[in-house]
Amino acid sequence: MRILICEDEPDIITILSSSLVAEGYDVESVLTGEDLIERFTRIPPDLVLLDVKLPGINGWELLDWIRAHSNCPVIMLTAYGRIVDKVRGLSRGADDYITKPFKLVEVKARIEAVLRRSTLAEERQPLEIDDVHKVIILRGKEVFVSPKEYALASLLASDPGRVFSREEILSHLWPDNRYATSQDVQKYVYLLRKRVEEDPSHPKLVLTVRGFGYRLANY
Ligand code: CA
Repeated sequence: MRILICEDEPDIITILSSSLVAEGYDVESVLTGEDLIERFTRIPPDLVLLDVKLPGINGWELLDWIRAHSNCPVIMLTAYGRIVDKVRGLSRGADDYITKPFKLVEVKARIEAVLRRSTLAEERQPLEIDDVHKVIILRGKEVFVSPKEYALASLLASDPGRVFSREEILSHLWPDNRYATSQDVQKYVYLLRKRVEEDPSHPKLVLTVRGFGYRLANY
């Protein structure tokens, strides 16, 4: 497991990295946000320990950047023990929060817990259906969709991996409408991809099976 530490105090880096290396982690460290972005882009880590107060780009801005680019777990490191900072960090997508001065046993325990959670999340199907609330659950987060998009997603998710023909989708989405065409199916596939794909022009979840129809990727 690769851990990337971003912290401007060299003493803290030394303490953290020596103890994490002793635990068997592969540890890299950077002193600034600019270096974090560069390193993160080149070799994505499995977890980031991120200091809040940094020169230049601060920890909150870096957290936003990481969240815009990846689901990599982030633990914030901060001298602020104020509850408002904790809430701010967690609501912006941090996975946990450690207040300085910290105990190394606490850091290790939090890292293990966060990594365990993220591994479990990865093992689940990325796209699930909440039939009670009529929403899509994408990697654990609710995505609100229109009724037709929901109907399409729930049909595909009823049997992940199975190919559904355009005709099957058509009669599922418009059971009574004789005027709907395969263009309408294409349109809703397009709309659903815009909701659930990181890059809708290179779909990884809602896949086209040329000449047959569509299927949901099964993991
Ligand atoms: Ca600092």
